[in-house]
Amino acid sequence: MKVSELFMPTMKETPSDAEIESHKLMLRSGFMRQLSSGIYVYLPLGYRVLRKIENIVREEMDRAGAQEVHMSALMPKELWEESGRWAVFGPEMFKIKDRNEREYCLGPTHEEAFTYIVRNEVTSYRDLPKILYQIQTKFRDERRPRFGVMRCREFTMKDAYSFDMNEEGLDISYKKMYDAYVRIFKRCGLDVKIVEADTGAMGGSNSHEFMVPSSVGEAEIAYCKACGYAANLEKAECLDEPVENTEEIKQMQEVYTPNVRTIEELVNFLNIDAKRFVKTMIYKADDRFVAVLVRGDREVNETKLKNLLKANELELASVEDVERITGAKVGFAGPVGLSIEIYADNEVKYLKNFVVGSNKTDYHIKNVNLSDFKVTKFADLRNITQDDLCPKCLSQKVTIERGIEVGHIFKLGTKYTEAFNCVYTDEKGEKKPMIMGCYGIGINRTAAAIIEQMHDEDGIIWPITVAPYEVIVVPVNIKDEQQSKIAFEIYEDLQKKGVEVLIDDRDERAGVKFKDADLIGIPFRVTIGRKIADGRIEVRNRRTKESVEVDIESAVEFILNLINEEKARYKV
Ligand code: ATP
Ligand code: MG
Repeated sequence: MKVSELFMPTMKETPSDAEIESHKLMLRSGFMRQLSSGIYVYLPLGYRVLRKIENIVREEMDRAGAQEVHMSALMPKELWEESGRWAVFGPEMFKIKDRNEREYCLGPTHEEAFTYIVRNEVTSYRDLPKILYQIQTKFRDERRPRFGVMRCREFTMKDAYSFDMNEEGLDISYKKMYDAYVRIFKRCGLDVKIVEADTGAMGGSNSHEFMVPSSVGEAEIAYCKACGYAANLEKAECLDEPVENTEEIKQMQEVYTPNVRTIEELVNFLNIDAKRFVKTMIYKADDRFVAVLVRGDREVNETKLKNLLKANELELASVEDVERITGAKVGFAGPVGLSIEIYADNEVKYLKNFVVGSNKTDYHIKNVNLSDFKVTKFADLRNITQDDLCPKCLSQKVTIERGIEVGHIFKLGTKYTEAFNCVYTDEKGEKKPMIMGCYGIGINRTAAAIIEQMHDEDGIIWPITVAPYEVIVVPVNIKDEQQSKIAFEIYEDLQKKGVEVLIDDRDERAGVKFKDADLIGIPFRVTIGRKIADGRIEVRNRRTKESVEVDIESAVEFILNLINEEKARYKV
């Protein structure tokens, strides 16, 4: 492809609304443009990258025995009513009506569609197991679309669904997908951390997320450098470590704390360490209200709470509800005399003479102890922190890092197959629900994550496996007949050998061309300049920034070797 003809609208300035490097670089390199909040269109270079990632995913899915299908993005309400998710999916789902007022959604995910098809078409144990997948557009009305294609409202996902006869079968399918994901991300040049993820109230280690460590990631990962334990923050378990506390129990005492509501304000006002406070948070779990206690310097882990309460929906109670339940303004809730159920984090068990809200506006109580109120249950209800020991090996404290979730695999069990009556007949003629797993990879987010991990001040450094082109041939002065002739010969020769190659035939200064080549991240740049007088040209590796001079005659052979060496880095 000639750069003079390529639709590659690069930008010199950094777009002002882009906050993170991948977003900036995808816009600057002319890979994509925004159409509306969270909605992007892909231009030729960007689309080539997405297709390459898709192809890697496709090859590895096929290798693992999964079969590609294509569901519709538009789905009728009735399908989602069968699983019960039409009502509970919430505002993230785009819902629309047809001309006859029938309701539909634009698929945010496809468990329903796959289960429906399999239910109707697969009936016998002879037809199982099956792993089906698609590469399909998903629509999610995210609360906060941001960071370009990291969190957008229309995106491409590879989603796979496995159907097995029993748990052992599911374990095998799950392992196949897990291994395929490891290969996919390696081939994409991504360094991923695989972490245990929450599975809801069912528990067990039945879900993993594939995380790309990055300071711009929206997820947090806790991991242990000693034993390799890794879990996302929602899931990471806090040990219940007994603390010996020999303090004498003191007398409860009300203190006047006018307008002092937050822990920070209290610490300053009372001059007492945050560890000596107990926070009382009021939550609405489905239709009931509960209070949750954690130490002043801790955060409630809502996933753990939701699982403990077996709630479908969990949210902080509204201001009105808090005021009604506590009889005080927000900021003064406390466990003493509270009429709703109280759940407390394990750590609270070992505290004595702590400070809590008094359920009376502008007052707190000092020297409160466990005997002063009733706890329904103590449990692990807080987020893990850097001060916590690894819950697996206990040998050292965990490290907490941010990460970008690029893939997620999940054992679903019979949640959908029971709802859809998706059963098979076993060898004895008995009907049993199939056991399902689901497996997703965000294609666009993967592209953005690669850029986050592989860029420098000059632009993107694409791994050769996903680069839009492998080589860019740059004649320094296109008007120089000799340079132009040699450049086109090398370009055409590389093309014949199956190399994906660009030639920058624009009548531009060399500096402009070099800048663009670096910005769009082409792995190899072949420069044809004055040195052709000595029969030499230059080949530069974008990743290592190393340049070598080679003879014109052996140049193509040399470049082919370099490409192969570079590709070997991403082999699995
Ligand atoms: P998140 O917690 O980031 O919202 P999720 O748990 O909703 O992700 P899944 O439903 O498991 O994600 O989707 C599978 C994959 O799809 C994710 O791992 C991610 O790579 C991608 N993905 C999810 N939501 C978006 C989005 N809004 N924009 C781009 N990619 C997304
Ligand atoms: Mg989401």
